[in-house]
Amino acid sequence: AHNLALEEMDKACLLHPATSIADHLANGPRIMAEASGVHVTDTRGNRFLDGAAGLWCVNVGYGRKEIVEAVNAQMSRLPFFHSFTSMSNEPSIRLGDKVLRWAPEGMSKVIFGSGGSDANDTNIKLVWYYNNLRGMPDKKKIISRDRAYHGVTIGAGSLTAMPVYHQKFDLPLPQIRYTRSVDMFRDKPADMSEPDYSKLLAGELEKLILSEGPETVGAFIAEPVMGTGGVLPPPEGYFQEVQAVLDKYDVLMIADEVICGFGRLGARFGSEFYGIRPDIMTMAKGLSSGYLPLSASVINDRIWAVLEETAPQMASFGHGFTYSAHPACAAAALANIEILERENLVGNAAKMGALLKTRLKETIGDSPIVGDIRGEGMMIGLELVKDRETKEAFDLSLKTAGKVQAKGYENLILVRTLPHRDVIAMSPPLSMTEENVEALVAGVKASVDAVADAYKA
Ligand code: PLP
Repeated sequence: AHNLALEEMDKACLLHPATSIADHLANGPRIMAEASGVHVTDTRGNRFLDGAAGLWCVNVGYGRKEIVEAVNAQMSRLPFFHSFTSMSNEPSIRLGDKVLRWAPEGMSKVIFGSGGSDANDTNIKLVWYYNNLRGMPDKKKIISRDRAYHGVTIGAGSLTAMPVYHQKFDLPLPQIRYTRSVDMFRDKPADMSEPDYSKLLAGELEKLILSEGPETVGAFIAEPVMGTGGVLPPPEGYFQEVQAVLDKYDVLMIADEVICGFGRLGARFGSEFYGIRPDIMTMAKGLSSGYLPLSASVINDRIWAVLEETAPQMASFGHGFTYSAHPACAAAALANIEILERENLVGNAAKMGALLKTRLKETIGDSPIVGDIRGEGMMIGLELVKDRETKEAFDLSLKTAGKVQAKGYENLILVRTLPHRDVIAMSPPLSMTEENVEALVAGVKASVDAVADAYKA
């Protein structure tokens, strides 16, 4: 039942992340109470179709008994033990094996964490450690991209290129640089081919590496499809061009697969989808479908070979958390991946994602406020514009995407808005049926139409 006391208690005791403090105090929380399949119900009794899979993460959908039972059994047997001093546990060993079977060829070792942010901090330390071991202590700079989101901890928050995560925190760290992002809608000149645009962007990356000095650049980090930055897929050939530059200057490639991994693009990983050869991969979200917090940093043979060489000196990678390789979280992730495999949800994501994009184009492709419908698999972005011809954006203070999202609540669908401009992001569970896709499209159309009509009036 609708529980006002709980809403007041929320305002009294919780600080919500990256949320307008004023809006929250004025409007209070929307409290989710239960979920099943692709639907989430709040305490007011609204049952939403979750077009966002929580926060891009509930890949297998809600209410999966197998995951609950696997966690339950593991909790009863061994709820916790740490992984320091060579301690280990069965679910994390089996999960490490499973993750490496899923990962592209050449990936070699897994370090578990609790979330995407800490995994990216781990990755920064891995780059620094690796280059120290190789006798290249100056090779520490990490190049991220404009508008990137890689988390919020001191390290990951530095890789993130958004003012709200830097201002008043004295971030980014001095070792972090940014290069131009992919943006085929707004940045690629209309008369330029995708391969040429890829060359242009890779050329800028090379210029940046040269101006910084290649002997000071350790790694480049990118999401296969940029998520929070705007649901921005790379132009054709982008990662091939980028990898050629990285290879030339001995710079590591970090693929942040936190959103793209575990089937979201209709391939196991974005790296597989785009032919990326990562040295390090960041995994979280879909790894456990959010049932329990879990992340992984995965390194390839080349990094492992250098670490392994230090074994005779009794070296250790001075890093790790109490909850690294948590057995209950690992049990959840294992059960989650088994569902992905058994139900071929990766294949379903490719099929349903294609349907979702097509049906959105058919139903709202001509809307006066829809400028672009883009994405791969179950990762779709809708960019709203004031003028379709000129691509002129709405004044951001109008919160046009926010209005569509709010209409979505009325139409019982959940979609997300992104921070940089008026983009609606859709990232539903990979288990969506055709009927679910049609319901999501109908809800999005009704919401977009309502806002377009209100603007016309
Ligand atoms: N990397 C990417 C690409 C993400 O989208 C996110 C979160 O949305 C993160 C890292 C940070 O993950 P977490 O919120 O689990 O710390």
